[in-house]
Amino acid sequence: MIVTIDGPAGSGKSTAAKGLAKRLSYEYLDTGAMYRAIAHALIRADIPFGDEMRVVPFLSECKLEMPPGRVILNGDDITEIIRSPAMSDASSRVAAQGHVRAILVGWQRQIAAGRQMVCEGRDQGSVVFVESPCKFYLTASVEVRAKRRLAELLAKHIPATLDSVMQDIEIRDHRDKTRAVGPLVQPDDAMVIVTDNLTPENVLDRLEEEVKKCVCG
Ligand code: C5P
Repeated sequence: MIVTIDGPAGSGKSTAAKGLAKRLSYEYLDTGAMYRAIAHALIRADIPFGDEMRVVPFLSECKLEMPPGRVILNGDDITEIIRSPAMSDASSRVAAQGHVRAILVGWQRQIAAGRQMVCEGRDQGSVVFVESPCKFYLTASVEVRAKRRLAELLAKHIPATLDSVMQDIEIRDHRDKTRAVGPLVQPDDAMVIVTDNLTPENVLDRLEEEVKKCVCG
């Protein structure tokens, strides 16, 4: 079974998706890391994101591997460098390109085929795994999401301020929600969880309880 968890940046979905996968003994797919890796690769190769004639053949030659907790692109470990604010911005710009999304959606379906997986992103329940019987949409206020994201960045010694993070999040939210292809939406059949006043443990308990209902019918 595929469990989908979508939501905006800082909604707590990465922590929730990882934790849920662990509790269920499922695998975990971080699709945001895939967009980040592709943005990084295209910038390094000096290929404009919108140049479909160059982007498509380039991506078909890329080898993206995601062993637990790591992101390896063409043999290079890029796990840490794709987490910077600059790469957050670049990943949301690359993700607005329909030709890029078409390729990544295909990769995500290939990776998940025949597996028990928790898939996290922006379009997992609305586009990639529409048939999933168990979909979640996590959200929280911009202030709470910015505080969480700031804490993550500072823990990694990446300089940032609350204002800069809040601004980045708002720009990214807007881009993610308004793009023509695969925008961030709340799927009609997803359970919505507002995480402002919930601890990560509370969120996990809710998710686990709901998944059990999906499995048992
Ligand atoms: O989740 P994360 O913040 O790492 O995602 C980085 C960016 O990748 C998002 O801002 C979004 O634009 C894009 N993304 C997407 N579809 C997904 C996952 C991420 O468009 N399924």
